[in-house]
Amino acid sequence: MRGKLRFISVNSVVKALMITADILIIGGGVPGLSLALKLGRAGANVCVIDTEKVIKMKDVELTGRTVALWDGSVQILRDAGLWDFVADYSQPIETLRIIDDSSKRMEPVIIDFEARDIGLDVFGYNVPVARLRAALVEAIASVKTINHIAPARLKDYCVDGGRVLATLEDDAKIEARVIIGADGRRSITRSIAGIDVSEQDYGQSAITCIINHTKPHLGVSTEHHRPGGPFTTVPMPDVDGQHQSAVVWMEQHDTADQFMRFDKQNFESALQERTRGALGKVTLATNPQVWPIITQHSHALIAPRCALMAEAAHVMSPIGAQGLNLSLRDVVSLSDILLNAMQVGEDAGSEKILKAYGRQRRGDIQSRVYGIDLLNRFVSNDKITLRALRRLGLKTLDGLPMLKEIAMMHALKPS
Ligand SMILES: Cc1cc2nc3c(=O)[nH]c(=O)nc-3n(C[C@H](O)[C@H](O)[C@H](O)COP(=O)(O)OP(=O)(O)OC[C@H]3O[C@@H](n4cnc5c(N)ncnc54)[C@H](O)[C@@H]3O)c2cc1C
Repeated sequence: MRGKLRFISVNSVVKALMITADILIIGGGVPGLSLALKLGRAGANVCVIDTEKVIKMKDVELTGRTVALWDGSVQILRDAGLWDFVADYSQPIETLRIIDDSSKRMEPVIIDFEARDIGLDVFGYNVPVARLRAALVEAIASVKTINHIAPARLKDYCVDGGRVLATLEDDAKIEARVIIGADGRRSITRSIAGIDVSEQDYGQSAITCIINHTKPHLGVSTEHHRPGGPFTTVPMPDVDGQHQSAVVWMEQHDTADQFMRFDKQNFESALQERTRGALGKVTLATNPQVWPIITQHSHALIAPRCALMAEAAHVMSPIGAQGLNLSLRDVVSLSDILLNAMQVGEDAGSEKILKAYGRQRRGDIQSRVYGIDLLNRFVSNDKITLRALRRLGLKTLDGLPMLKEIAMMHALKPS
């Protein structure tokens, strides 16, 4: 009998059904989920697909990945009602300190940028990524028009007249008016859409971890410019009276790999040397993790019935903390454009609507990607002339308050 009958499980019947949505978002990182939330709350029918399994707020563990979110991004989280979920775990950043530590023989050059100099109480907040993502997942679960399918993976999609037909790896099918690629730097949505990317590999990695330290950080984020690349400490809230900071430490791949092989004691000594005693005695609070650093930008932001956003469209070095800030501006632009179209009964996936998104975001994205690329090359270069120029540049900037203000405004606001 067994050979003759085809047994179909309940699961496969469900999978065989077609899921329909107005908007299909591939990728449930912070940008993808933020877009889903904004669209869903406004009544759009949204489906989000993500390869990672959902982690609830109560199960979130401390990891080394935090993001400095500047004033405008924090406002986006407040507007979305998400801030209350992450505020207690986030640390205000009042001062940005740059230390040119690249010369062994000369005194370091130090320059402080103060938020109050540009009329702000704080530049922004350092926010744990996993907690923010969990807050988004919980917020999304309460919106009836959002279908969050995870873990699941987009396998393919095609455009058929006025709709997109997507197939997941388990053969489930989804039909939508438009597909949004928010699936990160190796975006499959982007490659199916036939959009090319340019990539610049600096041979650098970023080591991240959380450190405990005996001296308070006083809300100062400190970027040490060193020969291998910048070493940055970003303040975090005290935990049970224990001072903490996040570390983003950039080195060439080989050097980073060597440090990753260090035992705890030697790793902590290396951290101690790099913080130059400013934070007192330093110990590890989380295991270090390593991330490859590249610059990447997609040659187009749109294709038929498809739009790209966040790291599917632009990847940059963590220096200057711009990546997620830029992605949240993609979220605002794309959600406004799609919702406006739907409110007046227009097709959200039409060429006209998607082109409006491409036009609106191109300038901000290009200037950030090229700007951060240049900055990274400049600060990670150990040539003697560039080192001297760097030191001179910082000294000059420190003596010109107006220029300093312009630099601060540029770092925080869209171009
Ligand atoms: C060390 C480091 C420090 C940083 N610090 C800062 C900072 O201080 N401030 C700042 O603004 N930015 C910072 N950034 C950048 C920021 O973290 C990223 O820009 C942001 O997290 C990228 O989000 P994303 O959703 O585009 O990509 P991801 O977080 O990679 O999310 C993409 C999602 O898509 C899913 N996916 C992939 N393929 C598929 C598929 N086929 N089907 C379904 N789902 C799929 C993945 O599982 C993933 O969940 C930092 C980056 C690094 C590396």
